[in-house]
Amino acid sequence: MKSIKNKIITFSVIATLIPSLALGLLSFRQNEELVSHNVTRELRALARNVSRELDLWVNENDQAIRAISVSSLIINSLSAMQHYTAANDAEKTEQVLAHFLRSVQAKLGSILELTVADATGRVIASSVSDPDIGDLSKDWLQRLQQDNWLMEGVWASSLHWNAQYQTAIFNIIVPILSYDDAFIGTIIATLNLGAFRDSMDDTLNPTPGEVVLLSQTGHVLLSSTTDIPPSMAIDEAVLQKLKAKPGELMSFTGLTQPKVIGLFDVPKMLPVTVLVERDYNEIYAAWIRLRNFFLGFVSVLIIIVAAVALYIGRSIVIPLESLIGATRHIVDGDLNVRVDVKQSDEVGQLANMFNLMTDKLQQNHEEIMAANAAMRQQNQMLEALSVTDSMTGLLNRSKLDAVLTDELARFGRNKRPFSVLMIDVDHFKTLNDNLGHIVGDEILIAVAKVLANSIRSVDFAARYGGDEFVVILTETTADAAIKTAERIRMQVAEVGNKLKEHKIAITLSIGISHSLLEDKSPTLLLARVDNALYEAKKAGRNRIHVIF
Ligand code: GH3
Ligand code: MG
Repeated sequence: MKSIKNKIITFSVIATLIPSLALGLLSFRQNEELVSHNVTRELRALARNVSRELDLWVNENDQAIRAISVSSLIINSLSAMQHYTAANDAEKTEQVLAHFLRSVQAKLGSILELTVADATGRVIASSVSDPDIGDLSKDWLQRLQQDNWLMEGVWASSLHWNAQYQTAIFNIIVPILSYDDAFIGTIIATLNLGAFRDSMDDTLNPTPGEVVLLSQTGHVLLSSTTDIPPSMAIDEAVLQKLKAKPGELMSFTGLTQPKVIGLFDVPKMLPVTVLVERDYNEIYAAWIRLRNFFLGFVSVLIIIVAAVALYIGRSIVIPLESLIGATRHIVDGDLNVRVDVKQSDEVGQLANMFNLMTDKLQQNHEEIMAANAAMRQQNQMLEALSVTDSMTGLLNRSKLDAVLTDELARFGRNKRPFSVLMIDVDHFKTLNDNLGHIVGDEILIAVAKVLANSIRSVDFAARYGGDEFVVILTETTADAAIKTAERIRMQVAEVGNKLKEHKIAITLSIGISHSLLEDKSPTLLLARVDNALYEAKKAGRNRIHVIF
C-alpha cells in the first residue's frame, strides 16, 4: 500500500465500486419489490377468481339438484311409496325412479351418484348400485329443518378423497317436499370435485402459476397440474403459516418445486383452501439474469478502471523510480546520469528539469575538477620549486637540511649509517673569470647532471651554494662512499673535456664523512664533511678526503 500506484488503483476501484454497487443494489431492490408486488397482485387475483369460480360451480350444481328435487316424478314416487302395501308396487316405483336418476345423472357431468332417500334416510333409489350417501343422521335432519331447508355448508363434512372414483367427492343434499310442503325425503348428489378442473384451468389461463385445492389437513384434492399426485400433502408448518395470513405472499417449499412463492384463499362454499403458487426461479429468472449481467458489467468496469489506474500509476511511478535511481547515482557521486522520460505532463517536466539540473551540476563539477587539477599542478610546481635549486634542478639548501634531519632520525632508529659528500669545483672563480659567467653556469649545470646520474633513487643530491654540492648516500658507509665520489670526480673531468670548444680541466675536491651517533643535528655532520673538503683543498685539490 506504500506505493503511489497501489493507492491510485485502490482509490479508483473503491470509487467505482461504491457508487455502482449502491446504485445497483438500490435498483435491484426496487426491481425486486416491483416484481414481488406484481406477482402478489396476480396470484391474489388468481386465488380469488378460483375461489369465486368454485363457489359458483357449487352453486350451479346445487341449483341443478334443487331443480331435480322438484320433479313431479320424484315427488309422486315418494308420496306413493308412503301408501304402498304391496312389495311389487314399491319395487316397480323404485325401478322407475332409479332409471330416472341414472338418466339425469348421465346428463349432469359433475355428478357421480344421484340417490333418493325417504324422510327416515332410507335409500329408495339410486343411479348406482351401491351409493355413498354418507351419514344421514337424525341430527342432520333436524338441522336441515331448522335451517328452513337451506343447505349451505351442510354437505361440507362429506368432502373427501374417494379411492374408487380416484377423485375428491362431496355430497349435496336437497330436501324433497310434497306438493303441500311436507318433508318426504332427500335427494343426495355425489359431486366430482375433479369436474371443477376445467373451470379452474379456464380461470388460470393465461395467468402463470399453479392452483391446488387442499383439504383442511393439507392434502391435495385437486390441482391444475398433473405433476401433483392426490396423496401429496403440503408441509404442516407451511400450511399453518399460509393459513395464518391468507392473501399474503410467502416463499416456501412447493409441492413439486424446491422453492415457490404463493398464497392462500378460502372459498365460502367448500371447506377447501385454494393455494396458488409460482416457481420462484421462473419469476425471478429475468431479475437474476439482470443481476448477473450487472455483476458481470461491474466486474468488467472494475477491471477496466483498475487497468487505467495501473496505467496512470505506472506513468507516475516509473518516471519517479528512474528519478529516484538517478538521484541515488548523484548521491553516490556519479553525475553522468540522465532520466529518459518522454511524457509531456508534470512528471515529464520534472524529469526534464532534473536532466537540466544534472547537466548544470556536471558542468559545474567539471569546472571545479579542472580548477582543482590546475591548482594541484600549481601546488606541485610550487612545492617542487620550494625544494629545488632553479638553475641545476637539484635540491636546495633548505631541503637539504630537512633531508639530513630525517636521515639522522632514521639512522638513530636503524643504526645503519649514511654518508655525506661535500663537493666543490676547484678554482671556479678562475673559470668564471676566464670563460665568463654563462659558461660558469653551464659547468655548474653539467656537474649537477653528473651528480644526479651517479646516485641511486634512494640518494639525494643538493646544491649547497655557489659551486658547492652535497650528496647524501643512504645506508652507505664512508668506505663505500669513496667509490661513488671517485666515479663522480672522474665523470666531471670527462665532462670538462667535452665541454664545448674550451677543453678546460674541471676538477672537484670532495670531502666525505658518515653519520655518527653523536650527530644530534645536521650541523655537526656538515661541519665534519666541510672539514674533509677543506683537507682535500689543502692537500692540492682534485681529490677526496675522508673523515670517519
Ligand atoms: P677554490 O678552488 O678554493 O674553491 O677556488 P675558487 O675559485 O673556486 O674559490 P671559491 O669557491 O671561493 O669561488 C667561488 C666562485 O664562484 C665565486 C663566485 O663568483 C662564483 N660563483 C658563485 N655562484 C655562481 C654562479 O651561480 N654562477 C657562476 N658563473 N659563478 C658563481
Ligand atoms: Mg671552488
